[in-house]
Amino acid sequence: MTDDSPTEIVQLRNFVDGSFVDGADTFDKISPVDGARVAVVHEAGQETVDAAVRAARRAFDGRWGLTTDRDRAALLRRIADGIEARFEEFVDAEIRDTGKPVALARELDVARAAANFRSFADTISSAGLDSYLTDTGGGRSALNYAVRKPLGVVAVIVPWNLPLLLLTWKVAPALACGNAVVVKPSEETPSTATLLAEVIAEAGAPSGVYNVVHGFGPGSAGEFLTWHPGIDGVTFTGESSTGATIMKEVAPRVVPVSFELGGKNAAVVFDDSPLERTLDGLTRSLFLNTGQVCLCTERVYVQRGLFDELAAGIAERAKGLRLGRPHASGTTTGPLISQKHRAKVMSYLDLAVQEGAEVLAGGGIPELGEDLAGGAWIEPTVWTGLDNSCRTVREEVFGPVAALIPFDTEEEAIGLANDTEYGLAASVWTSDLSRAHRVAQAMDVGLSWVNTWYLRDLRAPFGGTGRSGIGREGGKHSLHFYTETTNVCVAL
Ligand code: NAD
Repeated sequence: MTDDSPTEIVQLRNFVDGSFVDGADTFDKISPVDGARVAVVHEAGQETVDAAVRAARRAFDGRWGLTTDRDRAALLRRIADGIEARFEEFVDAEIRDTGKPVALARELDVARAAANFRSFADTISSAGLDSYLTDTGGGRSALNYAVRKPLGVVAVIVPWNLPLLLLTWKVAPALACGNAVVVKPSEETPSTATLLAEVIAEAGAPSGVYNVVHGFGPGSAGEFLTWHPGIDGVTFTGESSTGATIMKEVAPRVVPVSFELGGKNAAVVFDDSPLERTLDGLTRSLFLNTGQVCLCTERVYVQRGLFDELAAGIAERAKGLRLGRPHASGTTTGPLISQKHRAKVMSYLDLAVQEGAEVLAGGGIPELGEDLAGGAWIEPTVWTGLDNSCRTVREEVFGPVAALIPFDTEEEAIGLANDTEYGLAASVWTSDLSRAHRVAQAMDVGLSWVNTWYLRDLRAPFGGTGRSGIGREGGKHSLHFYTETTNVCVAL
């Protein structure tokens, strides 16, 4: 399928112990582009989730448990090759679920999926062990060294915004470390996780190493999985409130969690910042993937000397974005993921006006013609006139919105940017080298960029503080979560 009007309704089944299995119930996947039904998804009930967890345990206790780091690195590289061999199928699947522009699916989502597997193949291949020679007195010593062991069966629960990218960001290190996984993709984006099951099996992973259960959160596959006594760890990306719920679900069993949660990310723009480059960078950080990236900026603090010029520039660029079908030439921006999410974003667009915003661009639902009337389209929106007391500046909208707020001094800007419950990402825009480092370090976030945004090295720590998450993943940081260590102390 290479155009945007699929005629065939795809059936998406659960993948358990190396086979695709039906669910007791099914639900429809609706395209956010035009409201068409594009897939029928088989929902996993309690029994299917049980079977998936048991299959993962058997794999872990069996042949998979005997593999070496080198074996698994080689498997990860074959998976990366397999994704690339079926690159356009993954692109089509991602577009079918999300409606995002084809260039974005190619350059960000699918390319990064293959890169995730290769990066964690490198990480596991080069990971050393911690060791210390301990002076025990009297000319004697002891050797301490820590060996890594996989957690066992890991539940991987992911959202809909970058479905394959975020899934593989967790599956790759989990498998690299020798775990078996049960994956619960978002109900909104079930396709690429299903396709990945074929690739992982073709790459030679034993049955049960990678399982997929489809469904929703509460009262469905998500909750059945997190409540399951056979789970040894939960790695979750999604909303902060869902993270809090999952934490309660696993608390009685003291299951380790890694949480990558919501954000309300700030950009701080000083008036010595080169205007064009800053406008380019900010536009990307505000509107990429229709603002549906956890790292996206929603608050922009601008030094007063540059405020009017920057606000006019951002508004012009927001108006210049082209909303349209994923394959239409010139499309820069897709729809939101669903009507439900659009209703949430729309409620914030209305609230901003009640809170006193001046709307410089967007502010509502665009008129895109009858063809797209059933889609979840929204206008990229730019506000001034709000401040940090407003809900629109405090709460995560997760859409293409920019609140532009002036400041005078560096101290004030740091205070405003850090005045939030979240702590995922920030960007600082300035030509002053010392100030760049000073302010970037002062941001209470996991990821702080200078004169750029979303530039990633997969070995670098990724994660957030406060309501934005628990723990760091990336490179060796992922190894910490996906393994337990046993320290061996030998008296010499
Ligand atoms: P969500 O929390 O609604 O859902 C995420 C996943 O959790 C889905 O698969 C869902 O079915 C499942 N789920 C929901 N309730 C559950 C429960 N009680 N038990 C088990 N599973 C449950 O999030 P979303 O709307 O899909 O994604 C958007 C959110 O994700 C935003 O808040 C965004 O900031 C965040 N996000 C964070 C990062 C990051 O790296 N920090 C990355 C991407 C998205």
